[in-house]
Amino acid sequence: MKAEGATRNGDLDPWGVPPAVAARLKKLGLHAPAELVLHLPLRYEDETRLTPIREVPLGPSVLVEGTIADAQVQYRGRRMLVCQVEDGSGTLVMRFLNFYPSQVKAYAPGARVRLFGEARLGLFGPEMVHPRVRVLRGETPLPETLTPVYPTTAGLSQDALRRLVERALAEFPLTESLPAELRARLKLPGFRESVLHLHNPPPKAKLELLEGRSHPAWRRIKFDELLAQQLSMRLHYQRRRARAAPALPPHHGLTRALLDRLLFPLTRAQRRAYGEISRDLSESHPMQRLLQGDVGSGKTIVAALAALQAAENGCQCAIMAPTEILAEQHHLKFSAWFAPLDVPIAWIAGGLRKKEREAALKRVASGEATVAIGTHALFQEEVKFRNLGLAIIDEQHRFGVHQRLALRQKGDSPHQLMMSATPIPRTLSMSYYADLDVSVIDEMPPGRTPVTTKLIADSRRDEVIARVRDACVAGRQAYWVCPLIEDSEALQLKTALATFDTVRQTFPDLRVGLVHGRLPSEEKAAVMGRFKAGEIQLLVATTVIEVGVDVPNASLMVIEHAERMGLAQLHQLRGRVGRGAEASACILMYANPLSDAARERLKIIFENSDGFEVARRDLMLRGPGEFLGARQSGVPLLRFADLEADRDLLEAAREVAAQILERHPEAARAHLERWLGERHRLLRV
Ligand code: ADP
Ligand code: MG
Repeated sequence: MKAEGATRNGDLDPWGVPPAVAARLKKLGLHAPAELVLHLPLRYEDETRLTPIREVPLGPSVLVEGTIADAQVQYRGRRMLVCQVEDGSGTLVMRFLNFYPSQVKAYAPGARVRLFGEARLGLFGPEMVHPRVRVLRGETPLPETLTPVYPTTAGLSQDALRRLVERALAEFPLTESLPAELRARLKLPGFRESVLHLHNPPPKAKLELLEGRSHPAWRRIKFDELLAQQLSMRLHYQRRRARAAPALPPHHGLTRALLDRLLFPLTRAQRRAYGEISRDLSESHPMQRLLQGDVGSGKTIVAALAALQAAENGCQCAIMAPTEILAEQHHLKFSAWFAPLDVPIAWIAGGLRKKEREAALKRVASGEATVAIGTHALFQEEVKFRNLGLAIIDEQHRFGVHQRLALRQKGDSPHQLMMSATPIPRTLSMSYYADLDVSVIDEMPPGRTPVTTKLIADSRRDEVIARVRDACVAGRQAYWVCPLIEDSEALQLKTALATFDTVRQTFPDLRVGLVHGRLPSEEKAAVMGRFKAGEIQLLVATTVIEVGVDVPNASLMVIEHAERMGLAQLHQLRGRVGRGAEASACILMYANPLSDAARERLKIIFENSDGFEVARRDLMLRGPGEFLGARQSGVPLLRFADLEADRDLLEAAREVAAQILERHPEAARAHLERWLGERHRLLRV
């Protein structure tokens, strides 16, 4: 029996492609013959013109035709095949350091050959080392188009790939998928015309435009790719809207009661965000909304209001955070808010004792607990809800698509609210996140003083130490963030312990605490509690405090080896200070010498306090692949288009996607099939 993938419509089987070749094609992302149409060249070689040997330039590749006058296997330290080729205008040497007996036979005197390669100056005139050689038999016209050079992989020759692409171009109809009026409006060339031009450009084609991917034919391809992405996202969106979820309209009982007790009024941005969420919850299909707001913008209270709206309708709510510290903090905060309102909360995390855990699970399953707060432990199978109406996921970018899917399956189709302090640059939210609705809190609560960022080489450690002491003596608190050590939790722990020791020796007069990822959860919670209460003045921490930790009296942060950290991480860490009325500072210590990339990152974080700007620069530095992290699994990445550089095309694609789906559903389907094959059916979250 064949594997499921092998019988799939469009597999390479019908072409009789040998398994070894098929495997290499798959490496290139090519699973079906039709996909070869969109396997586009990287560059081109000009084999349309012959260059007389006398005029062969040194350097650029040229095509030469002549007769073999002499061929010898020579020994000059190693075996080599040396042939003289004549064309009436001059003689050229071709030299092979590796060769097969079959070559010796084929390149015998008298044979007519065509060579393509770069010439260099040898002892006896121009010489080509390992040119591409074709032995001519009878009439062999020159190609009429430039020769494409494709991205390939070991074991798959350009010739083989070219033949496959040619076959695909001949066999598939290359139908136009865009309505004519649209193409005219966007001034885009036809699909067939564009694809043929890119694979086989005429000799006079503008190579800079083609190889620089700015030719109109390239714009057409990039537009098509972006359009496919938009269509796919939009279809998801529509499919989700077609599913049913419990309608949870606001009753203004619990939410009003919470707002009345709150010590601060909501900012306008918070009210607007809650308004949008509230409206979504009232509808009978699942919300999938991303609440975005820079670190410290006050997302938690908005989440609490959403949870209460679900509770007003007798539905349960799950609140999940990526780290235990953050989950614990939410637990404390929500408990303080919800206890007076008689909304019971269950706490579910990894470190619970069996009995506590079982009790919590029971309260969630029976519906006795209205709200469940925890870490990814909430995803686990034993966690059963009586009627889950809303799932809130904090710091959503830390969770993978699969985990979110697992949570969704716990309810019929609960509403989902995702929160993120890693702002998504506009081009990304227009593309990879286009299936989500987004609310943005673009305003900080009043009374914050901006954080000053300082860059200090670690040779000036003494100054940093003086500042930390001054701040603590003045009654404020500080974080001392340990250097990040990649991939090794054990090393990280060692560094944290070592840093803690040094810091304690440096500040014998201060109350110093330590928190790191390996600490048992109760201890972690206890340390954080003491820091929050002001008992600990200086907290030595690993990056576990990166997300969500909220201690307003902490106004100074020192980050060691900031050059090792990513931009998003630095911005998150810095967001831990500047939460109170006190002027705050973040000191980034770095060790020289800095790599160019590290220098660039430090410069960006130093110059920008706005998270959106930091994120945009981050995207430019790293490209969407890394930026997307977990989300990219399941979401096809763009191959040709560049979100920032092709922003105009992205905007255009977004604009027309809705229109095409509505007025030309057949065209939309054909377009998706061409670009995503079956992949678009896999995208479900
Ligand atoms: P984040 O968006 O990073 O999750 P939080 O929800 O933790 O931010 O809020 C940061 C701090 O701001 C908390 O101490 C919170 O109590 C406070 N806060 C939130 N909203 C307001 C507001 N409207 N006015 C004053 N303080 C607020
Ligand atoms: Mg938060």
